[in-house]
Amino acid sequence: MSEKSYPVGGVDYPRTMQEFDEWFSNEVACVEYLRRLRWPEGFQCPNCGKNKAWLTGRGLLRCANCQRQTSVIAGTLFEGTRKPLRTWFQVMWYITSQKYGGNALGLKRVVGFGSYQTAWTWLHKMRHAMVRPGRDRLSGKVEVDETYVGGAETGVRGRETEKKAIVVVAVEIHEPFGFGRVRLRQVPDVSGASLVPFVCEMIEPGSEVLTDGWGGYNTLVEHNYIHSKTILSSSGDPAHVLMPGVHRIAALLKRWLLGAYQGSVSSKYLDYYLDEYTFRFNRRSAQARGLLFYRLVEQAVQVEHISRNQIILG
Ligand SMILES: [Zn+2]
Repeated sequence: MSEKSYPVGGVDYPRTMQEFDEWFSNEVACVEYLRRLRWPEGFQCPNCGKNKAWLTGRGLLRCANCQRQTSVIAGTLFEGTRKPLRTWFQVMWYITSQKYGGNALGLKRVVGFGSYQTAWTWLHKMRHAMVRPGRDRLSGKVEVDETYVGGAETGVRGRETEKKAIVVVAVEIHEPFGFGRVRLRQVPDVSGASLVPFVCEMIEPGSEVLTDGWGGYNTLVEHNYIHSKTILSSSGDPAHVLMPGVHRIAALLKRWLLGAYQGSVSSKYLDYYLDEYTFRFNRRSAQARGLLFYRLVEQAVQVEHISRNQIILG
């Protein structure tokens, strides 16, 4: 993905519902848009490398040189779809144009899906596209801590949870104040074997990683991180004073799950919701909702298709 040229409203993405309808009034317009985002430097024939091609009526690009046909949607989220691309676009617009996202019931109504299950599946496919393959790692000063997500559970304290899902949160801390990007993941437990790989995957080596005194993070220095530990018990400060970033993200995440989904998210599918939350949070400063639509389409042409079975089986 090219970060150099910033997408412009009205040129690269529609700014309003009316513009959306005008731009994507038919299948060819949708295919052309996908083609542009999939090959930002221009299409190149995978067979002969030439760049001159025509769009056929069936959404295929036919190379002017060797006649080979290339599908615009093969190898993308839309591969093998039997639904019109326009429906996909409507769903992507619906999801990104709402600040807190949409639920399956709302989507069923807006797009006119026959069943709740269909709408639910489509939403999960969208969430699947919200993680950009090969995305950059967090860097600089990064807070890392775990939080517990799930229904009210009394009598369980701290890390001794059984039923709640454990989510590790990493957030960039900006000086003197403010937060950068976040990364979230559900982990089976709080052992070093679960926590350290998360840090290694999500955070650039050499970064300063701030954690509490939990032993699970003890090996971070061996992985080339600057590890700054704050021992909660010795300082006597409550957690939100020492880990303001993680505490804030965790509170926002829980509020979002409650508000948008009434908290009814099973841990089996929680990772999809974490991806959606991350997508929204990391683009929270986007002035135009259309920019989120653009980013989602851009990522949808970079990820592989996922089936309902794959979603359900995990
Ligand atoms: Zn060719």
